Amino acid sequence: MPDANTIAVIPGDGIGKEVVPEGVRVLDAAAGAFGFELAYREFDFASADYWTRTGTMLPGDWFETLRGFDAIFFGAVGWPQVVPDHVSLWGSLLQFRRGFDQYVNLRPTRLMPGVASPLAGRSPGEVDFWVVRENTEGEYSSIGGRIFEGTERETVMQETVMTRVGVDRVLRFAFELAARRPRRKLTSATKSNGISVTMPYWDERVAAMAQQYPQVDVDQFHIDILTANFVLHPDWFDVVVASNLFGDILSDLGPACAGTIGIAPSANINPERRFPSLFEPVHGSAPDIAGRGIANPIGQIWCAAMMLDHLGHDAAGAAVLAAIEQVLARGPEQAPLTPDLGGSGTTAELGAEIAEAVAGAG
Ligand code: ATP
Ligand code: MG
Repeated sequence: MPDANTIAVIPGDGIGKEVVPEGVRVLDAAAGAFGFELAYREFDFASADYWTRTGTMLPGDWFETLRGFDAIFFGAVGWPQVVPDHVSLWGSLLQFRRGFDQYVNLRPTRLMPGVASPLAGRSPGEVDFWVVRENTEGEYSSIGGRIFEGTERETVMQETVMTRVGVDRVLRFAFELAARRPRRKLTSATKSNGISVTMPYWDERVAAMAQQYPQVDVDQFHIDILTANFVLHPDWFDVVVASNLFGDILSDLGPACAGTIGIAPSANINPERRFPSLFEPVHGSAPDIAGRGIANPIGQIWCAAMMLDHLGHDAAGAAVLAAIEQVLARGPEQAPLTPDLGGSGTTAELGAEIAEAVAGAG
């Protein structure tokens, strides 16, 4: 048997501490069923408790401590009663994203059986696409400032920065992903009619890379009409690639169209695998329901599926996704679904049900 993959497990705060163990339970079931090994090490940093004890979110040597792992399995960070959100976020997740050069943020949108979606008349299978967001530059540069402050002429500006390396590497990831999918379709989101320097540059790089991927069908939308089409024609999309700001918006809109935030996963990826990639649910620490054992663990469990894909255990990843779908399809009468899905099951009951379905799949 090849060496075990090593996973750094960071539960964080609030419901992160409740859903992460369910993700691990399902990972164990997948490893058992498909015959591979995973070695975990759990860390208590990136949490409000750690901050209370030490006055920082991360230990000074976090980079060296984590860099050798194959992946980071993350719950949620944030407990605003103890530490302000901008401090906890900048002090932990954004450090990982930057330090480990996780320049791709990847999120699926997929209609799941039994989950009520605002997309009227759509059925599972019709909607299944990925949003690939540039995660390091673009509109979220901190270059800018104010002049003539306090006067009538007060003026503020902030620059968008795109580099050829930064644009090409996220496009490369998106083209590669599209080329591996059955529909081989790539949609690029820009706004070249309004933003006349950076967005046309992005379009130019898309056109240049498209030459290298003749098998991929490429189209391009302006962001305004694209958001409308996410709702009106979600079946048009397969892989959607966008700059940092546009990708941020699209990657929240996608899961919202799919019905609930409690089941949506996301990944921050370093495609070259020089550093570990990080897998975390879209939802936060949910202080309003934390400690009650009713959080939906599916977002975290879907993260486990994405992490298995990333580690090369594709069959196991597909089995975890199939198990999620199978349990959701049984509905709240037949399966222990959590209250957000209309049931009265607990976090642990739902996790165990999915783990059992995975165990039977190998
Ligand atoms: P962030 O930390 O990203 O800022 P947030 O604080 O805006 O997130 P969440 O913590 O995700 O928001 O919570 C938003 C709402 O969704 C809350 O009412 C919360 O209870 C609910 N929610 C979030 N995750 C889950 C889940 N896994 N299961 C059930 N409900 C959830
Ligand atoms: Mg929050």
